[in-house]
Amino acid sequence: MKGDPKSRGFSTRAIHAGQSPEPVTGAVAVPIFQTSTYVHEGLGKSKGFDYARTQNPTRTALEQNVASLEGGLRGHAYASGMAAISALMTLVRADERVVLSRNVYGGTYRLLVQVLDRWRIHPVWVDTTDLDAIRAALREPARLVIVESPTNPLMEITDLRAVATLAHEAGALLAVDNTFLSPYFQRPLELGADAVVHSTTKFLNGHSDSIGGVLVSTRPEDADWFAFVQKSVGAILSPFDCFLTMRGIKTLAVRMERHERNAHAVARLLDEHPKVARVFYPGLPSFPGHEIHARQASGFGAMIAFEVADFESARRLLDRLEVWSLAESLGGVESLACHPATMTHASIPKERRKELGVSDELVRFSVGIEDQADLLGDLERGLQEI
Ligand code: PLP
Repeated sequence: MKGDPKSRGFSTRAIHAGQSPEPVTGAVAVPIFQTSTYVHEGLGKSKGFDYARTQNPTRTALEQNVASLEGGLRGHAYASGMAAISALMTLVRADERVVLSRNVYGGTYRLLVQVLDRWRIHPVWVDTTDLDAIRAALREPARLVIVESPTNPLMEITDLRAVATLAHEAGALLAVDNTFLSPYFQRPLELGADAVVHSTTKFLNGHSDSIGGVLVSTRPEDADWFAFVQKSVGAILSPFDCFLTMRGIKTLAVRMERHERNAHAVARLLDEHPKVARVFYPGLPSFPGHEIHARQASGFGAMIAFEVADFESARRLLDRLEVWSLAESLGGVESLACHPATMTHASIPKERRKELGVSDELVRFSVGIEDQADLLGDLERGLQEI
């Protein structure tokens, strides 16, 4: 594509941003630059590339692409979503506080509670759906506020614009984990957030064949710092994973549309089913937070949680499903079902899971892009048998 992709629409940028044809051959797909180092023509004469931990053209292409989709200044790609969240956490110093959504991804909880406690970083867990609770938490200084909206797995919705204002008034930065919706449906930086983090493992890559993470920042000093952390800590995304993720992103828009269409149909089936006690999906008009979500995002995504009668019913349903695979993770083209209490959230102590509402009868779906009739038929049969 000729010209600057910045002025183009989302799908055009997903395909073209950061993806200029390779100068030697004109290759349309950004090559996998599988090299650890680069030859210098002479002392002090490099082509801007010295060592691949610091710079790699395949990684740069992905980073520019995601930064463009999120509307940020620069992006930095890391070896996993957790590596990207760890890089974000390096903004915080010992004895500083971090305010977080109380039911963030279990791995983020574990990082704060079992790793960063050694560096005296203090997490403050808050129901971020409650602005007064955030206000109260920010009465004492905090470096960062970290929010997921919707949260994992209960889909709690936080008013991102309001939290950005509260964070900034208190001198804190707001970072949003946007993994569940992708920039196709939600762009937190446009709502005032200072950074966005992704597990690219999920919807961005979209094919369940790569682990990765990206951190997009708006402030030049943070962008410089995150590049420095890539170089200094070294948890960078490999060229091959960058290639796979870019390849996935090219179809993000069409995948997200289809994911969501299927998810709406599944949520309706669950909502009307006598064997289902409760459905957590922001796309249902009765769901708390539905209106806030509709204001700040252009779609409801493909993550659904629901409760059946008890653990045994959940187990039986998960055993009976044929099209849906029992697996952790989410955001791939295939539909996945999981049991948060024993899988994704097993690292959270039982008592705390109970407080959060992650019950033993809760099931989580990542709705894929298969034929809707197959997904609904399989689910209907599974539910009948519990
Ligand atoms: N953030 C969210 C919302 C997630 O669901 C996950 C993983 O499931 C992560 C971060 C961590 O990403 P990764 O598994 O790529 O390290």
